[in-house]
Amino acid sequence: MQIHVVGCDGGIAPGKLTTCFRLSESLLIDAGSVCGGLDLDEQSKIRDIFISHTHLDHIRDLGFLADNMLGEVNRINLYALPEVNRRLKEHFFNYAIWPDFTKIPTPQNPFYVLHDIEAETKYDFGDITILPVRVNHVVPSTGFVLEDRESCIVISGDTGPTERIWEVSKTYKKINEFFVELAFPNALQEIADASKHFTPATLKKELEKFERDDTPMALYHQKPKYADQIHKEIAAQNNAAFRFLKNGEVINY
Ligand SMILES: [Zn+2]
Ligand SMILES: [Zn+2]
Repeated sequence: MQIHVVGCDGGIAPGKLTTCFRLSESLLIDAGSVCGGLDLDEQSKIRDIFISHTHLDHIRDLGFLADNMLGEVNRINLYALPEVNRRLKEHFFNYAIWPDFTKIPTPQNPFYVLHDIEAETKYDFGDITILPVRVNHVVPSTGFVLEDRESCIVISGDTGPTERIWEVSKTYKKINEFFVELAFPNALQEIADASKHFTPATLKKELEKFERDDTPMALYHQKPKYADQIHKEIAAQNNAAFRFLKNGEVINY
């Protein structure tokens, strides 16, 4: 499998791009930086996007993608939990925040078609199978297990301490890499707990649930202001399994 990390930051600043992973030229997970991280030609090839949850850093560029590609691309399919799709329609594509691209250009043939997905059901896209798994965030949210013939990658999604993604992951023989969110430094533990994100301290404890130390862990979703501090705290843990994801990197598994 090839994964293009379009964006993997937990906030916006120059050079920082929020969550968006490209699995093929037409298939994405999250849309935080589709327009900030892909050129117009690349944007024109997108047909299917899985949305983990409705927080702005994961959906922001859905608005600009529609703006850029209306007239050139007929239809993009969005796949998300029913609660996520409902919130997208009520709070984003509502003509107040942005035009309703689930009805534009016509209600019969809109730019975005929303598809409800079920957690722990497999969805096939060519060679790639996507399994959404519910995680523990402040709004309904999923992580994802991605599989093709050669490899298996897990993306935690935004989450604090959680259960199912570890249980489900343990049923796979080999995970080539586990992308794990890590948003705040230890000093902001209270904020991390309240917003259901990890700090280096809670992540360390959380990994005990996985009971496996053979899996590389790629950390992402750092809040830009605290990225340096988080890097220091992770380095102090001396865990050889850890690395940090980088915007723009293309990983071949
Ligand atoms: Zn979130
Ligand atoms: Zn986020």
